[in-house]
Amino acid sequence: MARPKITVVGSNMVDLITYVERMPNEGETIEAPRFEMGFGGKGANQAVAAALLGADVSMVTKVGDDMFGPNTRKNFERYGIDTTYVETMPGVSSGVAPIFVDKKSHNSILIIKGANAHLLPQDVDRAKQKILKSDLVIMQLEIPLQTVYHTIVMCSAGGVPVILNPAPADPGLDVNRIKGIGFFAPNETELHLLTGMPTRTVDEVKAAAKTLLQKGLAKVIVTLGEKGSLFLTENAETLVPAFTVKSVDTTGAGDAFIGCFATYFIETGDLMKAMERANRYAALSTTRPGTQKSFLDRAGFEAAHV
Ligand code: ADP
Repeated sequence: MARPKITVVGSNMVDLITYVERMPNEGETIEAPRFEMGFGGKGANQAVAAALLGADVSMVTKVGDDMFGPNTRKNFERYGIDTTYVETMPGVSSGVAPIFVDKKSHNSILIIKGANAHLLPQDVDRAKQKILKSDLVIMQLEIPLQTVYHTIVMCSAGGVPVILNPAPADPGLDVNRIKGIGFFAPNETELHLLTGMPTRTVDEVKAAAKTLLQKGLAKVIVTLGEKGSLFLTENAETLVPAFTVKSVDTTGAGDAFIGCFATYFIETGDLMKAMERANRYAALSTTRPGTQKSFLDRAGFEAAHV
């Protein structure tokens, strides 16, 4: 079977994780016991999940001209991701996320978008041939909205379906400009922020998602954490329950879900099977620490029991 051809137009970040006994006060210097780096960014994470599951993935993204840029490129290559459209932006830092984790595992996170804020429509135009040969394009909202809209117009004209994961939530997102996409896939929090409606229960999520259908989005997938995921169209709504696992770290679960859903949906054309696999893959990712590090490859996924 041909491998699904997936292009991710999105972000990359380097997580700089400092484990602290306590945060320093202003003017104070203290020692912290441990530091770790990790490759992240929603676009990169989703690309890595799809590549690990066997998709032929290409990444359209920008890195800074700092020490993180070449390493990010190498990380993509390690997973077999095509880096032809990973560009270096002079004079700008890479996207980084300094993260502080205290003894109780509480996080304080700063996000510096860096080069991601400079991924512009003309960069997407350079990748046009690749994009139009893809079976599917995946995007998130860690890049400028104008770039997201531009890519959607290109994909609509070329008949390439798009999954838009509206994360992090951006209240400025104009639903009128994304109507042509294949799937709109927020989590509960993003759905709440986009619609202004409560999303604590499945019924509330359904009501909120329906307002998006009324605005013209054809297919909505809402990820619901330990409740699973919900698929909605004008005529159908299906709740796909989560797998019960011992979760230790849920960061990146949403990205695991999107990368896995995309791969299996293109491979099988079976939407429910893709939702079920994505729930299982994302659940498994929560049983191990880290983000990309917690994603299984195809063989590991097929062999895993939950
Ligand atoms: P995000 O990471 O964007 O907040 P969610 O928390 O909705 O996304 O998680 C994405 C998917 O991961 C869910 O739809 C579900 O399939 C799976 N998942 C997340 N948390 C758990 C959990 N505690 N147990 C089982 N599956 C989970």
